[in-house]
Amino acid sequence: MVSTNLNKRECKCGCGQWFVPTRSDKQYFNKSHADKHYGQRVRNKKQRKYYEEDKIFHRNEELLLDALNTWGRGAELAIIPLVELIAKGFKSEYYIIKTEDKNSTIFHYYSVSVCYYSNEPDGEKMALITLKEEVY
Ligand SMILES: [Zn+2]
Repeated sequence: MVSTNLNKRECKCGCGQWFVPTRSDKQYFNKSHADKHYGQRVRNKKQRKYYEEDKIFHRNEELLLDALNTWGRGAELAIIPLVELIAKGFKSEYYIIKTEDKNSTIFHYYSVSVCYYSNEPDGEKMALITLKEEVY
């Protein structure tokens, strides 16, 4: 029999199982408990990332619709300095898809699309927001 001075400890996976570790660095009852816990952690992390990104998409959508109502006074088109949007928390790198043609790149959201251009002569970056006829 292997004598050990190690105290019983609770398996780290959350199963509630107590065991006497054979090594001081053993944290799980056995490998399958360790694997299960690893899988859960990876899944939770992915899920968290998904929810965080979803929140940013929705926030962007809200800000753009808000800008349409405020700057476009309810019209279907608004032009707003990009810095104004960013100041409110807009993250331009989050969009659903973008389409490009030789003149412009259009960033699509659920109910609006955005096109950026530089205002002459000062070069201020502007966002042209358009309400879409078809919602994604
Ligand atoms: Zn366990």
